[in-house]
Amino acid sequence: MQLPAPLEAKFKELAGRYPVKRSALIPMMLYAQDQFGSLGDEILEEIAKRLDLNMIQVEETLAYYSMLRRKPAGRYHVQVCTNISCMLRGGNELYQHVQKRLGIGHKEVAPSGTFSLEEVECIGACTGAPAMQVNYDFYENLDADKVDAIFEQLQAGKKPKPSPVTAGALHERLPAEVPVISKRFGIPNSNKIDVYRNNDGYRALEKALKEMTPDQIIDEVKKSNLRGRGGAGFPAGMKWSFVPKDTSKPKYILANADESEPGTCKDRPLMEMDPHQLIEGVVIAGRAVGAHQGYIYIRGEYRYVIDIMDAAIAEAYAKGYLGKNIVGSGFDFDLATHTGAGAYECGEESALMESLEGKRGYPRIRPPFPAVVGLYGCPTVINNAETLSTVPAVIRMGGEAYANLGTPKNGGTRLYSISGHVNRPGIYELPLGFPLRRLIEEVAGGVRGGKKLKAVIPGGSSCPLLTADEIDIAMDYDSVAKAGSMLGSGGTVVMDEDTCMVDVARRIMHFYAHESCGWCIPCREGTAWLRKMLDRFHGGGGRAEDIPLIDELAKNMLGRTFCPLGDAAALPTISIVKKWRNEFEDHLAGKCAYKPAEMIAGAR
Ligand code: SF4
Repeated sequence: MQLPAPLEAKFKELAGRYPVKRSALIPMMLYAQDQFGSLGDEILEEIAKRLDLNMIQVEETLAYYSMLRRKPAGRYHVQVCTNISCMLRGGNELYQHVQKRLGIGHKEVAPSGTFSLEEVECIGACTGAPAMQVNYDFYENLDADKVDAIFEQLQAGKKPKPSPVTAGALHERLPAEVPVISKRFGIPNSNKIDVYRNNDGYRALEKALKEMTPDQIIDEVKKSNLRGRGGAGFPAGMKWSFVPKDTSKPKYILANADESEPGTCKDRPLMEMDPHQLIEGVVIAGRAVGAHQGYIYIRGEYRYVIDIMDAAIAEAYAKGYLGKNIVGSGFDFDLATHTGAGAYECGEESALMESLEGKRGYPRIRPPFPAVVGLYGCPTVINNAETLSTVPAVIRMGGEAYANLGTPKNGGTRLYSISGHVNRPGIYELPLGFPLRRLIEEVAGGVRGGKKLKAVIPGGSSCPLLTADEIDIAMDYDSVAKAGSMLGSGGTVVMDEDTCMVDVARRIMHFYAHESCGWCIPCREGTAWLRKMLDRFHGGGGRAEDIPLIDELAKNMLGRTFCPLGDAAALPTISIVKKWRNEFEDHLAGKCAYKPAEMIAGAR
């Protein structure tokens, strides 16, 4: 098959990116879909031929990823997010407006072929809610008038200007050393290597390669008390120390930038505004464990971010910070991006590796853990993109100085994305241990419209919710766990007194039912049944016996699934039933302010 020249060039580049051909499958399908609008038989057979796969292997992978499609979408594919942060700021109403305006519903294409529409799960624009994507462009802080103006421009053949990332201002009473990882945010051209180098960039890499042994690097990261910023909070230095030294196998560094948990949108600005910081962190990690190849796995919706990372990687090669003999040290390291294609589950580390190998994102049974048996069966360090972006600061400042910015056992600073009913939603870098109350009231400007606080998700939609009386806690892993929740990804979602908690439980469960990979029964069946029950309950068809049943169904998933997604679906549900049981009872008495007609489920 004769491919258009740019796609042929992309295919050639992708084919050379991986030691195992199949790894190029998902990126090839996505870039081909961008070219042709959908994935027809001819292009899939061409990809299969180039990667030595059969059509069954190709089709079964394709079917797993929500961004890949066999049928064409419209020229402008409009994706409106109605997940929790968007829902709280009018996402459902916006979606209804878009449906009316375009005259089409979920997964429909207008007869003219100009527009298609999809109601989607979290697109990573929580602090700019409500938000939508048109093809790969993000539009945020929307209302009906703004949406109309965007569609008018598109219909006139013009490209509306996409929204910039919302990076919040820093609080004035923070220590002088903060910000650490967001200090280049807002500097013009901060994604360019010269700007990066003029602002401390690549100094840590020079130090790590020329003045430190691998063990010294690991010790410094251990001293920093840097814990994984993706959710689990595992100490990064300890994870690195698990990688075997005496192996003949290649080793890999993977940066997990597949952030998809509702409420979480911090990796996006980190890569958009400071891609070299992540590159530097990945190379230092490679030096520490003796790896010479890395991949940055980025969620497929963030295409413009992938383009920024690709450009930064090319700059780093050109200036000698990647490739052979980096900064004259004798150390070699290669790095490339890898695009996801729409699957929250691929943020789980073993599912991410399966996906990077060109397969469905099913998690692996562990042990063995990735440090020993990871990508392609080889020792692999997999860290969240923010964790790796923090490494240059740790090396530059010294582990102890970095640790001292936080609390004991919770070193340094992190990015908190705060969204929902606050006056100043945004992405703020703050020390670990920063009080949650101050985060909401001072940093994010308090609850919008002078309303009272009702509930808070402290660290992404998988966390048990906190009531207004439970926010006097320090935002570090241990303190939030002691309060019965989790710091997670730092995605803090705030809900005011008018929020219907049954609706919140329902919307969260829609997400997990949609994202369950279906491999294990408690999760596949549990999330699907809970979604149906919560829809019915919220829609006015609840029965008194449903309340304990919802609780029991959720508890039955806990600890009985292959990966943490089952727990992630169960924990917020259990907490909502426990803490806002009265709202379930109110529904039985017909007291919810929300009408069934506004339900997302009705639109699907
Ligand atoms: Fe898949 Fe859910 Fe089981 Fe995880 S818990 S393996 S997402 S079915």
